[in-house]
Amino acid sequence: MEKRYDLRSDTCTLPTEEMRMAIYKAEVGDQGYGEDIATNRLEEYCAKLFGKEAAVFMPSGTMSDQVALRCWTNSGDEVIIDESYHINYFQGAQSIDIGKVILNTCKTEDGIIRVSDIKERLNSRMHNGTFTQTKLLSLENTINSHGGRIFPIDVLKEDYEFCKKNGIKVHLDGERIMNACVATGLKPSDYAQYTDTITMSFSKGLGGPFGSIIMGDKETMLLARKFRRWYGGHMHQCGFMAAAAYYAVTHNVDRLQEDHDNAKILATSIQNENSDIKVNNPETNIVMIDISNLNYKAQDFVSDCKKENVLLFAYGEYIVRAITSLNVNKEDKLYCADIINRNLKKIKNIIK
Ligand SMILES: *Cc1c(COP(=O)(O)O)cnc(C)c1O
Repeated sequence: MEKRYDLRSDTCTLPTEEMRMAIYKAEVGDQGYGEDIATNRLEEYCAKLFGKEAAVFMPSGTMSDQVALRCWTNSGDEVIIDESYHINYFQGAQSIDIGKVILNTCKTEDGIIRVSDIKERLNSRMHNGTFTQTKLLSLENTINSHGGRIFPIDVLKEDYEFCKKNGIKVHLDGERIMNACVATGLKPSDYAQYTDTITMSFSKGLGGPFGSIIMGDKETMLLARKFRRWYGGHMHQCGFMAAAAYYAVTHNVDRLQEDHDNAKILATSIQNENSDIKVNNPETNIVMIDISNLNYKAQDFVSDCKKENVLLFAYGEYIVRAITSLNVNKEDKLYCADIINRNLKKIKNIIK
């Protein structure tokens, strides 16, 4: 097979030999009886890393989020969220069908929900008496649809303190929280202290094949275990997956800096050669290329680049997304920038 340069997502990474060895050697048992040693080790490690009482290994980020919604709300309760966040943008159907919540969406410029935004949402409809009650604020870090933007910790702290005073819990959808940690130098527990539940993915930048984890207080994590089972996520010898996840979180965090450096160079190269389009200045590993000025559909651009083995993702009608990960090294990224720049020039009829 010809070499492919996969920038569609950091979920497209494949396990390395070392990770496969960790899977091979995993100490497993039936987790239905709490006997899966590799899973217990992973949950204990992550709870400690995030400074939370307990953690529950989940099959996917979506299940982590949907279980979190269910833990903090009852049917018909309201969750304040930004319209751009994964729980609304990609999981809107799940949130109403499984979570049974009303999403009251902020429409922020930058994906960063501030206290003023929360107040605005609280005033947007009746919440007193027999009306819907706001039970949860759901945040995201890093923010996928805003080019991997980091949610600032001081804003998180203010939001958390406001919510605490007003009886609202805070969930942080932190599938890419390690990207934020590596970029800022903050620890996972620094962010986690201003949340009631927080999640992390193993199958994004960390390069694992499977899974996510949710952390919180003991009582809520018991509930999370219950809802995981209700939703069909009860697993038996899941230590094979947990061993890969443990390998990912103990080996692949620091190297995320390389992905961030690659994203920056890719974005800069595209922006420098194409002053007529908008490219974000990536804080982490996500490049968003806005080609709306060229009046050319993102999906068509994705198809053009695919012919030259550079795989991208159409994020909306005119936005092309490129995510750097273990899939692209330093030379690959230069090749990708070259293919993207050449195809942009073709659209603009600068070259045929
Ligand atoms: C990827 C992602 C999810 C969903 O994770 P899956 O494992 O694909 O279900 C949720 N939230 C955010 C912010 C994500 O980036």
